[in-house]
Amino acid sequence: MEIEVRSQNDDEMIFIVRDAEVPFINAIRRVAMVNVPKIAIEDVNIIVNDSAMFNEVLAHRLGLTPLVSDLDALEGLSLPEDDDWEEFSNGIMFYLKEVGPKVVYSKDLKSSDSRIKPVYDTIPLVKLKEGEKLDIEAVAKVGYGKEHAKWIPTTVCAYKQYPEITFNEDVEIDYDCAQACPRGILKSDKRSKKIKIVEEHENSPLIGVEECAMCKSCVRASDNGYINVGFRPNDFIFRIETDGAMPPKEVLLKACDVLGEKADKFIRFSEEGGN
Ligand code: SF4
Repeated sequence: MEIEVRSQNDDEMIFIVRDAEVPFINAIRRVAMVNVPKIAIEDVNIIVNDSAMFNEVLAHRLGLTPLVSDLDALEGLSLPEDDDWEEFSNGIMFYLKEVGPKVVYSKDLKSSDSRIKPVYDTIPLVKLKEGEKLDIEAVAKVGYGKEHAKWIPTTVCAYKQYPEITFNEDVEIDYDCAQACPRGILKSDKRSKKIKIVEEHENSPLIGVEECAMCKSCVRASDNGYINVGFRPNDFIFRIETDGAMPPKEVLLKACDVLGEKADKFIRFSEEGGN
């Protein structure tokens, strides 16, 4: 198996995987979404809420506020499978004490741990009118996406099979197919009597045919079957995007670790005769 990274930054990573199988790639995708630990607010104690927003809605907004959850932040915190996870004292405390008039933003959440804080400062949480008060204590805990969406580290975690475009040289060239491409992947070159695949795409790290959406508009536009669009069954284009709580590379590495541990357990179980 070969992996080639096309682009990578703090919240998005695109890479090509060659010579792999669909079940394996899909397992990585699923584990990255639901089995990678992330920190989110779990318990909320509302002492005062004079705002027009219901307590439940406010608690929900706090739960979905992305918190820094990189490897450094996760160090030493209890996981859901640990016996002491339920204990109130085993999380990171957040405090919100505000008086209106003002818009309360995520940056107003004061954390008991300087490493763990909201990823973005400017997420509006609630609006307070003149004299309205807010006094809230909340506890953030580590969890998994399989329990609640607030613990899913990825906002996009998807793959597509590597597109393959072929031309039938036995029929007359059909320039209409190039015109039909909504992504500008095909370019007619009437001088050389060829249709070429554009190598570089604006605002995209993908090259050539990788940008193809496999929509087959080009195939439908060609009456004589000049163009065909398929895919390579064992090559994939994988995209991971996060809400900024964890770098996508960490999500991917952790997903691989978790998948490896699951495979080890299964092997041990088989070796021990299923006991
Ligand atoms: S399948 Fe769609 S995106 Fe791909 S080359 Fe044809 S028209 Fe363009």
